[in-house]
Amino acid sequence: MALERWFRRSKPTRSDEDATPAGLWLKCDGCAAQIYRKDLAQNLFTCPECGHHYRMPVDERIDMLADEGTFERWSGALAPTDPLAFVDTEPYPERMERVQEKQGRPDAIVTGAASMEGVPVALVVMDFFFAGGSMGSVVGEEIARAAERAARENRALVAVTASGGARMQEGALSLMQLAKTTVALEALAEKRLPYVTILTDPTTGGVTASFATLGDVILAEPDALICFAGPRVIQQTIKQDLPEGFQRAEFLLKKGMVDDVVPRAALKNRVANLLRLLRGERLPDRVEPQDGVEELEAPLEDAATPESKAPGEEVSRGA
Ligand SMILES: [Zn+2]
Repeated sequence: MALERWFRRSKPTRSDEDATPAGLWLKCDGCAAQIYRKDLAQNLFTCPECGHHYRMPVDERIDMLADEGTFERWSGALAPTDPLAFVDTEPYPERMERVQEKQGRPDAIVTGAASMEGVPVALVVMDFFFAGGSMGSVVGEEIARAAERAARENRALVAVTASGGARMQEGALSLMQLAKTTVALEALAEKRLPYVTILTDPTTGGVTASFATLGDVILAEPDALICFAGPRVIQQTIKQDLPEGFQRAEFLLKKGMVDDVVPRAALKNRVANLLRLLRGERLPDRVEPQDGVEELEAPLEDAATPESKAPGEEVSRGA
Protein backbone atom coordinates (compact mmCIF):
# COMPACT_ATOMS: atom_id res chain seq x y z
CA MET A 1 0.00 0.00 0.00
CA ALA A 2 2.85 2.35 0.77
CA LEU A 3 4.21 1.85 -2.72
CA GLU A 4 0.86 2.64 -4.31
CA ARG A 5 0.86 6.06 -2.64
CA TRP A 6 3.89 7.00 -4.72
CA PHE A 7 1.85 6.74 -7.89
CA ARG A 8 -1.32 8.36 -6.65
CA ARG A 9 -2.08 11.79 -8.12
CA SER A 10 -1.71 14.51 -5.52
CA LYS A 11 -3.90 16.96 -7.48
CA PRO A 12 -7.01 16.33 -9.55
CA THR A 13 -6.53 16.63 -13.32
CA ARG A 14 -8.02 19.80 -14.73
CA SER A 15 -9.77 20.11 -18.07
CA ASP A 16 -11.47 22.92 -19.98
CA GLU A 17 -14.91 21.54 -19.24
CA ASP A 18 -14.14 21.30 -15.54
CA ALA A 19 -16.76 23.33 -13.63
CA THR A 20 -15.06 23.14 -10.23
CA PRO A 21 -13.59 26.41 -8.87
CA ALA A 22 -10.10 25.28 -9.94
CA GLY A 23 -11.35 24.77 -13.51
CA LEU A 24 -13.12 28.13 -13.74
CA TRP A 25 -9.92 30.08 -13.18
CA LEU A 26 -6.63 30.05 -14.98
CA LYS A 27 -3.21 31.41 -14.08
CA CYS A 28 -1.98 33.47 -17.07
CA ASP A 29 1.12 32.11 -18.83
CA GLY A 30 2.15 35.67 -19.62
CA CYS A 31 1.66 37.62 -16.39
CA ALA A 32 0.60 34.99 -13.80
CA ALA A 33 -2.64 36.90 -13.10
CA GLN A 34 -5.70 34.86 -12.16
CA ILE A 35 -8.08 35.01 -15.12
CA TYR A 36 -11.69 33.88 -15.18
CA ARG A 37 -11.98 31.44 -18.08
CA LYS A 38 -15.18 33.08 -19.33
CA ASP A 39 -13.40 36.46 -19.48
CA LEU A 40 -10.66 34.86 -21.54
CA ALA A 41 -13.17 33.51 -24.07
CA GLN A 42 -14.94 36.86 -24.28
CA ASN A 43 -11.61 38.60 -24.84
CA LEU A 44 -10.81 36.53 -27.99
CA PHE A 45 -8.67 34.18 -25.87
CA THR A 46 -6.18 36.91 -25.00
CA CYS A 47 -5.29 37.86 -21.42
CA PRO A 48 -7.25 40.96 -20.30
CA GLU A 49 -4.25 41.96 -18.16
CA CYS A 50 -1.19 41.48 -20.37
CA GLY A 51 -2.55 40.62 -23.83
CA HIS A 52 -0.96 37.15 -23.92
CA HIS A 53 -2.44 35.26 -26.88
CA TYR A 54 -3.83 31.81 -26.08
CA ARG A 55 -4.59 29.21 -28.75
CA MET A 56 -8.06 29.83 -30.12
CA PRO A 57 -10.63 27.15 -30.94
CA VAL A 58 -11.69 26.94 -34.60
CA ASP A 59 -15.35 27.92 -34.21
CA GLU A 60 -14.48 31.05 -32.24
CA ARG A 61 -11.83 31.90 -34.82
CA ILE A 62 -14.38 31.69 -37.64
CA ASP A 63 -16.87 33.79 -35.65
CA MET A 64 -14.14 36.37 -35.18
CA LEU A 65 -13.09 36.58 -38.85
CA ALA A 66 -16.32 36.03 -40.80
CA ASP A 67 -19.15 38.55 -40.99
CA GLU A 68 -22.05 37.32 -38.91
CA GLY A 69 -24.04 34.55 -40.56
CA THR A 70 -21.93 34.47 -43.76
CA PHE A 71 -19.84 31.34 -43.13
CA GLU A 72 -20.80 28.39 -45.33
CA ARG A 73 -18.83 25.22 -44.59
CA TRP A 74 -17.12 23.38 -47.46
CA SER A 75 -15.05 20.81 -45.54
CA GLY A 76 -16.23 17.77 -43.64
CA ALA A 77 -16.96 15.20 -46.33
CA LEU A 78 -13.48 13.63 -46.21
CA ALA A 79 -12.16 11.43 -43.42
CA PRO A 80 -8.69 9.92 -43.02
CA THR A 81 -7.96 6.28 -43.87
CA ASP A 82 -5.10 4.16 -42.54
CA PRO A 83 -3.02 3.30 -45.62
CA LEU A 84 0.04 2.21 -43.61
CA ALA A 85 -1.87 0.22 -40.94
CA PHE A 86 0.06 2.38 -38.49
CA VAL A 87 0.25 1.50 -34.81
CA ASP A 88 2.15 3.51 -32.21
CA THR A 89 0.79 3.44 -28.66
CA GLU A 90 -2.56 2.63 -30.29
CA PRO A 91 -3.76 1.94 -33.85
CA TYR A 92 -4.16 5.11 -35.97
CA PRO A 93 -7.91 4.58 -36.68
CA GLU A 94 -8.65 4.30 -32.96
CA ARG A 95 -6.69 7.44 -32.22
CA MET A 96 -8.57 9.27 -34.97
CA GLU A 97 -11.96 8.06 -33.79
CA ARG A 98 -11.30 9.41 -30.31
CA VAL A 99 -10.18 12.84 -31.56
CA GLN A 100 -12.99 13.05 -34.11
CA GLU A 101 -15.54 12.48 -31.40
CA LYS A 102 -13.95 15.06 -29.09
CA GLN A 103 -13.50 17.77 -31.72
CA GLY A 104 -16.65 17.03 -33.72
CA ARG A 105 -14.99 17.03 -37.14
CA PRO A 106 -13.32 14.39 -39.33
CA ASP A 107 -9.87 16.01 -39.41
CA ALA A 108 -7.79 18.97 -38.25
CA ILE A 109 -9.23 21.54 -40.64
CA VAL A 110 -12.32 23.59 -41.45
CA THR A 111 -12.77 25.36 -44.78
CA GLY A 112 -15.63 27.39 -46.17
CA ALA A 113 -16.89 30.54 -47.83
CA ALA A 114 -17.49 33.75 -45.92
CA SER A 115 -17.25 37.49 -46.23
CA MET A 116 -14.92 39.70 -44.21
CA GLU A 117 -16.20 43.27 -43.93
CA GLY A 118 -18.08 42.49 -47.12
CA VAL A 119 -15.07 41.09 -49.03
CA PRO A 120 -15.79 37.58 -50.39
CA VAL A 121 -13.22 35.08 -49.09
CA ALA A 122 -12.55 31.39 -48.69
CA LEU A 123 -11.45 30.63 -45.14
CA VAL A 124 -9.09 27.81 -44.17
CA VAL A 125 -8.69 27.32 -40.41
CA MET A 126 -6.52 24.63 -38.86
CA ASP A 127 -7.52 22.95 -35.59
CA PHE A 128 -4.49 22.60 -33.33
CA PHE A 129 -6.64 20.79 -30.76
CA PHE A 130 -7.17 17.99 -33.29
CA ALA A 131 -4.03 15.79 -33.17
CA GLY A 132 -1.81 18.87 -32.88
CA GLY A 133 -3.12 20.28 -36.17
CA SER A 134 -1.02 17.71 -37.99
CA MET A 135 -1.28 17.70 -41.79
CA GLY A 136 -2.20 14.37 -43.34
CA SER A 137 -3.93 13.54 -46.62
CA VAL A 138 -7.31 15.00 -45.61
CA VAL A 139 -5.93 18.31 -44.36
CA GLY A 140 -3.87 18.72 -47.55
CA GLU A 141 -6.79 17.77 -49.78
CA GLU A 142 -9.22 20.16 -48.05
CA ILE A 143 -6.74 23.03 -48.43
CA ALA A 144 -6.18 22.20 -52.10
CA ARG A 145 -9.92 22.00 -52.77
CA ALA A 146 -10.54 25.27 -50.93
CA ALA A 147 -7.86 27.05 -52.98
CA GLU A 148 -9.24 25.71 -56.28
CA ARG A 149 -12.84 26.52 -55.37
CA ALA A 150 -11.83 30.01 -54.20
CA ALA A 151 -10.27 30.57 -57.62
CA ARG A 152 -13.42 29.36 -59.39
CA GLU A 153 -15.66 31.58 -57.27
CA ASN A 154 -13.39 34.65 -57.45
CA ARG A 155 -12.72 34.67 -53.73
CA ALA A 156 -9.54 35.67 -51.93
CA LEU A 157 -8.08 32.95 -49.74
CA VAL A 158 -7.36 33.52 -46.04
CA ALA A 159 -5.60 30.70 -44.18
CA VAL A 160 -5.17 30.54 -40.39
CA THR A 161 -2.42 28.05 -39.57
CA ALA A 162 -1.68 26.14 -36.35
CA SER A 163 0.18 22.89 -36.70
CA GLY A 164 2.74 20.57 -35.21
CA GLY A 165 3.74 19.59 -38.76
CA ALA A 166 3.16 16.56 -40.95
CA ARG A 167 1.11 13.67 -39.54
CA MET A 168 3.60 10.90 -38.88
CA GLN A 169 0.95 8.16 -38.90
CA GLU A 170 0.48 8.74 -42.64
CA GLY A 171 4.22 8.72 -43.35
CA ALA A 172 5.31 9.86 -46.81
CA LEU A 173 1.68 10.56 -47.80
CA SER A 174 1.76 13.47 -45.34
CA LEU A 175 4.87 14.85 -47.00
CA MET A 176 3.10 14.82 -50.37
CA GLN A 177 0.65 17.40 -49.00
CA LEU A 178 3.41 20.00 -49.17
CA ALA A 179 3.51 19.69 -52.95
CA LYS A 180 -0.26 19.31 -53.30
CA THR A 181 -1.15 22.47 -51.38
CA THR A 182 1.60 24.45 -53.10
CA VAL A 183 0.41 23.49 -56.58
CA ALA A 184 -3.25 24.21 -55.74
CA LEU A 185 -2.38 27.78 -54.74
CA GLU A 186 -1.27 28.37 -58.33
CA ALA A 187 -4.95 28.49 -59.31
CA LEU A 188 -5.31 31.68 -57.23
CA ALA A 189 -2.13 33.21 -58.63
CA GLU A 190 -3.33 32.58 -62.20
CA LYS A 191 -6.52 34.52 -61.52
CA ARG A 192 -4.58 37.20 -59.58
CA LEU A 193 -6.63 36.55 -56.45
CA PRO A 194 -4.99 37.47 -53.14
CA TYR A 195 -3.85 34.87 -50.63
CA VAL A 196 -3.23 36.00 -47.05
CA THR A 197 -1.91 33.74 -44.30
CA ILE A 198 -2.27 34.27 -40.57
CA LEU A 199 0.33 32.25 -38.65
CA THR A 200 -0.76 31.44 -35.11
CA ASP A 201 0.98 29.64 -32.25
CA PRO A 202 2.44 27.18 -33.16
CA THR A 203 2.99 26.94 -36.92
CA THR A 204 5.72 24.39 -37.55
CA GLY A 205 7.12 21.63 -39.77
CA GLY A 206 5.54 20.81 -43.11
CA VAL A 207 2.86 23.50 -42.77
CA THR A 208 5.52 26.21 -42.39
CA ALA A 209 7.40 24.60 -45.27
CA SER A 210 4.41 24.79 -47.62
CA PHE A 211 1.19 26.83 -47.79
CA ALA A 212 1.68 28.81 -44.55
CA THR A 213 4.61 30.80 -45.89
CA LEU A 214 3.40 31.17 -49.48
CA GLY A 215 0.94 33.99 -48.77
CA ASP A 216 1.06 37.20 -50.81
CA VAL A 217 1.00 38.75 -47.36
CA ILE A 218 2.10 36.74 -44.30
CA LEU A 219 0.76 37.94 -40.96
CA ALA A 220 1.47 36.45 -37.55
CA GLU A 221 -0.08 36.73 -34.10
CA PRO A 222 2.08 38.16 -31.27
CA ASP A 223 4.64 35.76 -29.78
CA ALA A 224 3.57 32.86 -32.05
CA LEU A 225 6.17 30.11 -32.47
CA ILE A 226 6.85 29.79 -36.21
CA CYS A 227 9.49 27.34 -37.33
CA PHE A 228 10.38 24.24 -39.30
CA ALA A 229 12.31 22.34 -36.63
CA GLY A 230 11.67 23.53 -33.07
CA PRO A 231 14.18 25.47 -30.97
CA ARG A 232 15.00 22.48 -28.73
CA VAL A 233 15.90 20.29 -31.71
CA ILE A 234 18.10 23.01 -33.20
CA GLN A 235 19.83 23.70 -29.89
CA GLN A 236 20.59 20.01 -29.38
CA THR A 237 21.91 19.71 -32.95
CA ILE A 238 24.18 22.76 -33.17
CA LYS A 239 24.98 22.82 -29.43
CA GLN A 240 24.89 26.61 -29.24
CA ASP A 241 22.73 29.07 -27.33
CA LEU A 242 19.94 30.48 -29.45
CA PRO A 243 19.21 34.22 -29.59
CA GLU A 244 16.48 35.74 -27.39
CA GLY A 245 13.01 35.28 -28.90
CA PHE A 246 14.32 32.88 -31.56
CA GLN A 247 11.57 31.68 -33.97
CA ARG A 248 8.92 33.90 -32.38
CA ALA A 249 6.74 36.13 -34.59
CA GLU A 250 8.52 39.38 -33.62
CA PHE A 251 11.97 37.85 -34.30
CA LEU A 252 10.80 36.65 -37.73
CA LEU A 253 9.32 40.08 -38.51
CA LYS A 254 12.78 41.60 -37.96
CA LYS A 255 14.33 38.95 -40.21
CA GLY A 256 11.75 39.54 -42.96
CA MET A 257 10.04 36.15 -42.85
CA VAL A 258 6.66 37.58 -41.84
CA ASP A 259 5.23 40.87 -43.09
CA ASP A 260 3.58 42.03 -39.89
CA VAL A 261 2.67 40.95 -36.38
CA VAL A 262 -0.98 41.83 -35.74
CA PRO A 263 -2.82 41.52 -32.41
CA ARG A 264 -5.85 39.27 -32.67
CA ALA A 265 -8.38 42.04 -32.09
CA ALA A 266 -7.07 43.96 -35.12
CA LEU A 267 -6.76 40.99 -37.48
CA LYS A 268 -10.12 41.09 -39.25
CA ASN A 269 -9.92 44.74 -40.19
CA ARG A 270 -6.27 44.44 -41.24
CA VAL A 271 -6.93 41.45 -43.48
CA ALA A 272 -10.05 43.04 -45.02
CA ASN A 273 -8.11 46.22 -45.85
CA LEU A 274 -5.25 44.21 -47.35
CA LEU A 275 -7.67 42.25 -49.51
CA ARG A 276 -9.31 45.45 -50.78
CA LEU A 277 -5.91 46.87 -51.70
CA LEU A 278 -4.72 43.66 -53.35
CA ARG A 279 -7.95 43.42 -55.35
CA GLY A 280 -7.42 46.98 -56.58
CA GLU A 281 -10.36 48.34 -54.65
CA ARG A 282 -10.18 51.62 -52.83
CA LEU A 283 -10.17 51.81 -49.07
CA PRO A 284 -13.25 53.59 -47.70
CA ASP A 285 -11.30 56.66 -46.51
CA ARG A 286 -9.17 57.14 -49.63
CA VAL A 287 -9.37 60.59 -51.30
CA GLU A 288 -10.60 60.38 -54.89
CA PRO A 289 -8.67 62.45 -57.50
CA GLN A 290 -10.66 65.35 -58.93
CA ASP A 291 -12.15 65.18 -62.41
CA GLY A 292 -10.02 66.69 -65.15
CA VAL A 293 -6.79 66.55 -63.16
CA GLU A 294 -4.04 64.35 -64.54
CA GLU A 295 -1.12 63.05 -62.54
CA LEU A 296 2.16 64.18 -64.08
CA GLU A 297 4.54 61.46 -65.23
CA ALA A 298 7.79 63.30 -64.49
CA PRO A 299 7.36 66.45 -62.44
CA LEU A 300 10.95 66.32 -61.15
CA GLU A 301 12.55 68.82 -63.56
CA ASP A 302 9.95 71.45 -62.70
CA ALA A 303 10.35 70.83 -59.01
CA ALA A 304 13.50 73.02 -59.00
CA THR A 305 11.39 76.18 -59.19
CA PRO A 306 8.23 75.23 -57.36
CA GLU A 307 7.39 78.82 -56.33
CA SER A 308 7.13 80.00 -59.95
CA LYS A 309 4.09 77.92 -60.88
CA ALA A 310 0.88 76.94 -59.21
CA PRO A 311 0.02 73.23 -59.46
CA GLY A 312 -2.95 74.03 -61.73
CA GLU A 313 -0.64 75.53 -64.41
CA GLU A 314 1.42 72.34 -64.50
CA VAL A 315 -1.62 70.33 -65.41
CA SER A 316 -2.98 72.69 -68.08
CA ARG A 317 0.43 72.96 -69.79
CA GLY A 318 0.14 69.81 -71.83
CA ALA A 319 -3.57 70.14 -72.65
ZN1 LIG B 1 -1.64 37.79 -18.64
